[in-house]
Amino acid sequence: MLPKLNPVIIRTFIIALTCIAAAQTALTQSIGRPVNPSGFPAGDTATFRVSVFGNIPPEHIEWKIIYGPEHVAFKDGNNTGPEVKVQGTAPGAFKLEVDVKGWIVTPPHVRPFFTGEVYPSLTIPVAVFIVRTTGGINPALQDSKVEPLLEGASRILWQRAITLVQNGPIRYLDNTAWLNHTDVFNTVNPNLYAMLDSTNSMGQAVELYFVDRLNVSGDHNLAGLYTSKGIALIGSANSRTLAHEIIHNAGAEDIYAQGDNGIPDPDPLAAPVSEAWLPLDWGGGYYNPEQLQFGIISRLLMEGGGYGEVIPRGTVYGWKHSGNGGGANPKELGHSKVGQDFINVNNIKSY
Ligand SMILES: [Zn+2]
Repeated sequence: MLPKLNPVIIRTFIIALTCIAAAQTALTQSIGRPVNPSGFPAGDTATFRVSVFGNIPPEHIEWKIIYGPEHVAFKDGNNTGPEVKVQGTAPGAFKLEVDVKGWIVTPPHVRPFFTGEVYPSLTIPVAVFIVRTTGGINPALQDSKVEPLLEGASRILWQRAITLVQNGPIRYLDNTAWLNHTDVFNTVNPNLYAMLDSTNSMGQAVELYFVDRLNVSGDHNLAGLYTSKGIALIGSANSRTLAHEIIHNAGAEDIYAQGDNGIPDPDPLAAPVSEAWLPLDWGGGYYNPEQLQFGIISRLLMEGGGYGEVIPRGTVYGWKHSGNGGGANPKELGHSKVGQDFINVNNIKSY
């Protein structure tokens, strides 16, 4: 006789991970790729995983392709167990669903699911400019750091099938005044834009400019700044910063776990995740019951100044810049365009 389990109880022993929730197990693969990604390249393989608690034999956990069998396939036909490998066979959307033998799900509840997309592999040419003093010394970045930085960013951007490849040799801009930038949100800043205009890829590459400092005002400094003329990065910026700025270039916005004035009391984001707050990344809602919205935000690549590396599918509710989303605008609560739906890879280039 099979047990009849209601989804509320199931929820206490299944943590089904959407691409966002996956981040709690993300980056645990030796190659550092996120588990349960919202996207991955055609011809590659992604890992999807659920955690099932209780005395459930692994073979009783069964995965199904609900749509997109022409886009994904289970590696070696293996579709059982808490973790499966899914091959991207052709570009297009897919939906996976997880069932547990004997588990009866009654409406309006649904089984845990993951939606995503297989993307065509894309190589983005990157032109690298390193600023040095006028005398040609003290580069903002050592040459040997460039390749690891691009590789690390490409590992994160794998979720969108993007690989960054250096285009031509490293070039040096010997101008002491361009090492330290101030007032960088000023869109007619003469010093910053003189640097960004000193070279022009004419849309054939994305330009990276390495400098010592990107100061907004006071002690507010940035690690990276996207403009249509190129991406400026400080020498100590990491791969996550580069990947974040590349996705800005593609059209996505920032999100934050807290507003301009710190964390209000009570914190409006210290509440459980909900479908209304993660509309395209809900996955049936099988999150850890203690999962709060601000914790989800901290896993996202588009969190400003954060550490997360996950690209969700759609919008996520949190603090965002008002108006056109520009970094200089004050923050307000709302749905931020942080997901795959807002990424246009054709826009990743500099002028
Ligand atoms: Zn940003």
